[in-house]
Amino acid sequence: MRIINGIPASGGFADGKALLYSHHHFEAVKEKIDPDNVDKELLALDNAFKICITNTEKLLESFKDPEQAAIVETHLIMLQDPEYVEEIKDSISIRFLNACWAIESVTSGLVATLQASDVEMIRDRAIDFIEISELVIGELSNVKRPDISVLDEDVVLIADSLMPTEMLTLDRKHIKAIGLDTGGRTSHVAIFARSFNIPTIIGLGSATNKTHNGDEVLVNGNSGRITIRPEWNVSKEFSVMRDIYQTHVDELKDIASLPSVTLDGRLFELKANIETADEIPGAITNGANGIGLFRSEFLYMQKTGAPPTEEEQFQAYKKVLEAMDNRPVTIRTIDVGGDKAVKGMGISEDNPILGWRAVRFCLERKDIFRIQLRALLRSSLYGKLHIMFPMISGNDELDSVLFILEQVKQELRSAKIPFDENVKVGTMIEVPSAALISDHLAKKVDFFSIGTNDLIQYTIAVDRGNEKIAYLYQPFHPGVLRLIKLVIDNAHAANIPIGMCGEMAGDPFSAVLLAGLGLDEFSMSPSALLEVRKILREISYKEAQEFAAHCLTYDSSKKIDKYIREWMHDRFDHIPTIG
Ligand code: PEP
Ligand code: MG
Repeated sequence: MRIINGIPASGGFADGKALLYSHHHFEAVKEKIDPDNVDKELLALDNAFKICITNTEKLLESFKDPEQAAIVETHLIMLQDPEYVEEIKDSISIRFLNACWAIESVTSGLVATLQASDVEMIRDRAIDFIEISELVIGELSNVKRPDISVLDEDVVLIADSLMPTEMLTLDRKHIKAIGLDTGGRTSHVAIFARSFNIPTIIGLGSATNKTHNGDEVLVNGNSGRITIRPEWNVSKEFSVMRDIYQTHVDELKDIASLPSVTLDGRLFELKANIETADEIPGAITNGANGIGLFRSEFLYMQKTGAPPTEEEQFQAYKKVLEAMDNRPVTIRTIDVGGDKAVKGMGISEDNPILGWRAVRFCLERKDIFRIQLRALLRSSLYGKLHIMFPMISGNDELDSVLFILEQVKQELRSAKIPFDENVKVGTMIEVPSAALISDHLAKKVDFFSIGTNDLIQYTIAVDRGNEKIAYLYQPFHPGVLRLIKLVIDNAHAANIPIGMCGEMAGDPFSAVLLAGLGLDEFSMSPSALLEVRKILREISYKEAQEFAAHCLTYDSSKKIDKYIREWMHDRFDHIPTIG
C-alpha cells in the first residue's frame, strides 16, 4: 500500500483501476548504431512508419467532423512525405543514428525552420510534425499513450500532467477520478475537473512512478490523498467516509431552490462558471442565478485549424443564452494565451503567463476580436447578455476595447442587424494594476468581476499552475485581501455591482469573508454552489462584516488562514465533513 498526499483540486470520493498516462514526451533512447546494423534499423523504421500510416488511415475513417478529419489527413500526408522519410533514412545510414534519434534529429531541424516562418499556417505545421514524430518514435519504442477520450471501462487516471485541451476531450463517463503529478489549484486543468465534477488531486509529485497500470487506487478529492493498492481496512474506512460525504451532498440538494439570503436579509447572487454549454443543466439544478463567467476561449480550443466563424460563435452564445432562460449570462471575450494555447493562433512564447494573452491578443488580432464581438452582440437578442473583458491592466487598454466594441455596434447598426442596445459591459479585475486604479475603471463599465485566480498569481508573483510553489499561492494573503476590498469599495462608490469569478468565490472557507467585504455576486463551478449557498443562508450580514474586518487586522496569510479555518469550523457543523 502506498499513500500520497497532493493538493485537493476537485472534491469527492472515487476508486478504481489505475490508467497511467504521460502527457510529456517520453525520452526516446538515443544511441549510435553499428554500421552492420543499418539495414535492421531501416527495416524497423519502415515497419514503424507503415503501422502509423495504417493506424492513421483507420483514425481518418472514424472522423465525421471535417475539421478533425483535415488534421488527421495532414498527418497522413506528412507520414508519407518522401523528403522527410529520406532524410531520416540518411541519418541512419550515413550518421549511424538509431531510428529514434534520427527521427528526433530530423524533426527538430524541420520544426526550427517551420517555426521561424512569418506565415502562421507554416508555423502551425511544426506541431503536426512533432505529433507524427512522436507517433513513430512511440511505435519504435513500443511506448504508446492510451487514448483517454474513448475508454471502455471505468478508471482512475494517473498522469504527469494534462493540457486543458486534453481535459476537454477526455472520456468523462469512464474517468472516475484523476491524480496528477503536477499542477496548482487554480490551473485550468483543476478548474475543469471541478466543472466536470471529477474528484481530482494535483501536485502529487511522483504518483506516476509509484503506480502501475491496473493498480487499485482510492481517491479522496476532499483531503487530497490517493491510496495505491490499499489494504482492506483502509478500503473499508474509505467506503464509510464516502457514504458520509454522499449523505452530506444529498442533503445539500434541498437548498438549491432557496435564495442566497443572510439571516438579516442581505441577498447575494450566486452564479455559475462554465466552459461548455453542457454544464448548464448542472448549474440550473444547483440553483445558479445566472452564468457569471462563460470562458468563451474553449470554443476556440475545441476547434482545430481555424477560429470558429461568426455564425458558429453566434449559435454557441445563443444556445447558452436560451438555455439560461432570461437569467443573466456573462460571456467573457477570448482569453487565449497563458496556459491556454490554441492551435492556429500563432501564440508561442517563453513567458506566456506574462505575455500575449486575452485582450492583449485581441487588440492585435482585431480581425478575430471583431468577429467575436459581432457574434456576441447578435446573440444578445436571445437573453440577458453581459460582455466581459479579461486581463485589462489599465485605462488605455479598456478604452481601446470599448472603442472597438462601439465600432462593431456601429457596423451592425449601419447594416441594420439588430442587437440589444442595452447590453451590459464589464471588466475583469485580475491584474493588480487594474485593482489599484479600479476607481478610474469603474467609471467606464457597468460591472466588475474579480478574477482571483490571476489576481493572486500576479500579486504574489506565483505561477498558479506550479505545484512547487503552491504553498505561496495564498488567497488569504493580506495583500490580496486589501486589493479585493479596494476593488469592492471602488465599485460601490461608482454604484456598479461587483462579483468574483475566480475560484476563491467557490471556496466555502472564503464565503463569509467575501460576503463581509461586501461582494455582491459569487460565481463558481456549478458543483460548489450549494455549499456556499448553505453558508450564506446561515450567517447574518452584520456578523460577516465584523468577521471580515477582523480578518483584515492580521499581518500574515498564516494568521488569517488559521483564524478563518478555526472560526468556520466552530460556526458550521458541516464544514469538517467536506474539508
Ligand atoms: C481568474 O483569473 O480568476 C479567472 C476567473 O479567469 P481564468 O481562470 O480563466 O484565468
Ligand atoms: Mg484569469
